[in-house]
Amino acid sequence: MSESRHTRLLIIGSGPAGYTAAVYGARAMLQPLLVQGMQPGGQLTITTEVENWPGDTMVMGPDLMVRMEAHAREMGTEIVTDTITRLDLHQRPFRATGDSGTVYTADAVVLATGAQAKWLGLPSEQKFMGFGVSACATCDGFFYRGREVVVIGGGNTAVEEALFLTNFATKVTLVHRRDSLRAEKILQQRLFRNPKIQVVWDHVPVEVLGDADPLGVTGVKLRHVATGAERVIPCAGFFVAIGHAPASELVKDQLKLHNGGYVWVEPGSTRTSIPGVFAAGDITDHVYRQAVTSAGMGCMAALDAEHYLAALEAEKELDAV
Ligand code: FAD
Ligand code: NAP
Repeated sequence: MSESRHTRLLIIGSGPAGYTAAVYGARAMLQPLLVQGMQPGGQLTITTEVENWPGDTMVMGPDLMVRMEAHAREMGTEIVTDTITRLDLHQRPFRATGDSGTVYTADAVVLATGAQAKWLGLPSEQKFMGFGVSACATCDGFFYRGREVVVIGGGNTAVEEALFLTNFATKVTLVHRRDSLRAEKILQQRLFRNPKIQVVWDHVPVEVLGDADPLGVTGVKLRHVATGAERVIPCAGFFVAIGHAPASELVKDQLKLHNGGYVWVEPGSTRTSIPGVFAAGDITDHVYRQAVTSAGMGCMAALDAEHYLAALEAEKELDAV
């Protein structure tokens, strides 16, 4: 038989936004319950050095997230290993169903499901997924010791992935569709100074090339964006780092969205289009998408939820009189 749990505040997601909402929610005596999802700790668990978390000149992403989890737990948050597969925001209390079969009902919900890596959408990318094609250098870089790899993208992730891969690969080629990067200047400087990295400008991948038996990548066919000229770069690993899309699948037919799937919130708040549902972090932010801004929004969401629950409870008391 499936278990049913009720909480005043349900937090969905365990990245910086979720854990910060949990710290504030617990300190407001809301006894929050946080569901971690399939990636406990969120996106920072797949990176190495984080150099822009205030207070730490350098901290390893996974270590920071372990500390955030411990902090949230210590303050009194119940942390549950489960993934929400269905969320009904049209009934009160709100109702979330976990992969485990547990049904969570809640008076208020903080959505902090973050973002997921985007893919190019090439059939050959799909074919070699896990067999040379990856979106996580930290997870898979080790497999390319002494080999050549290609990274696609021009943002912070692509540059960090390229730099990290130089620890293993003999050569890293970064391919970008324009002639300038959007990554932070300090990262660009490190990239251009690294003798193992070559940048190919103004090109997009059109096909991942490889062998069928054993299944594996041997190269990538690129096309020049202006001339259409094609060229092949040999590689054993093909890393896609072209950004992230908001993980708003659970609520896409229930909440107002904007900018291609980000959860809309009232400006200056974390209030979504349904009272009692709050959104924080990369799921709602198409501009900044940083650990510290996600944490900031997590704080705002817990404070917004606290005000909402206080008003709700005051209303109930009045009705009871
Ligand atoms: P996320 O970290 O994306 O976490 C989302 C959480 O939601 C996860 O725990 C997941 O399990 C959970 N979840 C998703 N769906 C469900 C569901 N259905 N049920 C339950 N739980 C669910 N930012 C920086 O400031 N500095 C950096 O150095 C930096 N480096 C980065 C390096 C890489 C490789 C990447 C990919 C990102 C980096 N970022 C960095 C960006 C930063 O990681 C994100 O901005 C931040 O993690 C967003 O936090 P979040 O809490 O919104 O979501
Ligand atoms: P991003 O900043 O959105 O960059 C995505 C890159 O991929 C862009 O250069 C984009 O090109 C390119 N791209 C997008 N679609 C493409 C396609 N179909 N084909 C080829 N190229 C494509 O994403 P991100 O680098 O993953 O960063 C996401 C957020 O996390 C950012 O806010 C970033 O600051 C943050 N982050 C921070 C750090 C850090 O602080 N050290 C590290 C990693 C990530 P264009 O430039 O032409 O658009």
